[in-house]
Amino acid sequence: AERSSFVVVANRLPVDEVIVDGERQWRPSPGGLVTALHPVLKEHRGTWIGWAGGDGEAPDPFELEGINIHPVPLSAEELERYYEGQSNATIWPLYHDAVETPVYKRRWREAYRIVNERFAKAAAEVAEEGATVWVQDYQLQLVPAMLRDMRPDLRIGFFLHIPFPPIELFMQMPFRAEILRGLLGADLVGFQQRLAAQNFVRLARHLLGLRYVGQSIQVDGRQVKAGAFPISIDTKDMERLAADPRVQARAKEIRAELGDPETIILGVDRLDYTKGIELRLKAFRELLSDGKLKVPDAVMVQVATPSRERVEHYQTLRVKVEREVGRINGEFGKVGMPAVHYLHQSMSKQELAALYVAADVMMVTPLRDGMNLVAKEYVACRSDKGGALVLSEFAGAATELRQAFLCNPHDPDGVKDALLRAVAAEPAELKRRIRVMQRHLRTHDVAEWARAFLKELGVTDGSESLEA
Ligand code: UDP
Repeated sequence: AERSSFVVVANRLPVDEVIVDGERQWRPSPGGLVTALHPVLKEHRGTWIGWAGGDGEAPDPFELEGINIHPVPLSAEELERYYEGQSNATIWPLYHDAVETPVYKRRWREAYRIVNERFAKAAAEVAEEGATVWVQDYQLQLVPAMLRDMRPDLRIGFFLHIPFPPIELFMQMPFRAEILRGLLGADLVGFQQRLAAQNFVRLARHLLGLRYVGQSIQVDGRQVKAGAFPISIDTKDMERLAADPRVQARAKEIRAELGDPETIILGVDRLDYTKGIELRLKAFRELLSDGKLKVPDAVMVQVATPSRERVEHYQTLRVKVEREVGRINGEFGKVGMPAVHYLHQSMSKQELAALYVAADVMMVTPLRDGMNLVAKEYVACRSDKGGALVLSEFAGAATELRQAFLCNPHDPDGVKDALLRAVAAEPAELKRRIRVMQRHLRTHDVAEWARAFLKELGVTDGSESLEA
């Protein structure tokens, strides 16, 4: 394979397989991380290492839109143990405040180690002398240390897209020291929040007795820096999409299809227990029941994208959410006029943008979320329309989007109150709030996120140092 001076390592490759005339082809797949890194990679003809989907043998490396794609194979058993098990049934719930009980299995941990080693080896093979390698997210926390062992010449960055838990929670993990040592293999460990970075440096002292000064930890005579780099969206692109006449027309059509209600309340989430979908539905039901909101003046649209369907936590969640939707519609709907429009479907960015444009109130109420890009996308889509964002204090986005209607998702009355204030707010006030948040997103977009991280990693100016 071709060698690169800039390498991204992530669980998933930014491509989807399509069959054209019986032949396998690849096309770029949309998604948060891809949008974030594509410009940087393209600029530097970088390599992306990751899993291409499917099990068994991986396709040979290939080039797509100026990026070298380097697939890593996963067997069906590894998918079950490393991905669904250790990543999504152990680490994911633990790092999200254990809002569901993490499951610990020794064979999952073993598979996680084996797969992490495979990714590290792939990176060691494609990276040029002195190259920069950027490892992404909770599925690959062992890669930095493994890679440093194989290739001490590399600059290694790691970014965690999800929250990093407080010491007390992290200490539950049977493999806690292994994970911490894995992360400490990086030169820079980035988090969404300053608090997460603090959790990390304190943990290094608590668990391994390491000294730190400020955000810099001393490990084997090296410095490992921790820092906060809140990820964002491609703001311009989102604004452009929202302004597209087809999206505007579709938004009008959606409003009409919903019966031109006074208030459209929208939720858009992967069907995940961290997202607070149930509590949001309950808040809506209680407001209908209290007579504070009325169908058909107010309707809710909840997009709940299918996710991790083979993991048990997710199967139980689906049953609970769908029961609640049924209960609300049974009680407050009329023929041809449901109170909640529930869509267990994956939506295109175009359709999402139209929903954002159509919605008067956006509800983002996670119990814990690293960032939450949906909240930022809604704000970017509102042009001069105003619109209200109800936002959980436990989403990373709440640190930046201070003009949202902030609420504590653990307090049902607080959520109801925030929703009512959002529904009742004056248009002028809503416009003012949205404008402040839009201004923030224009200067803090995803390109700025990548720039800030790479700069801190010592790649002084992306364009110069990466082009070895
Ligand atoms: N998204 C999408 N189609 C869907 C649902 C979500 O394209 O049906 C996108 C959404 O626009 C956003 C991302 O998926 O960019 C979700 O990111 P977020 O940070 O909100 O949550 P995550 O799913 O990463 O936990």
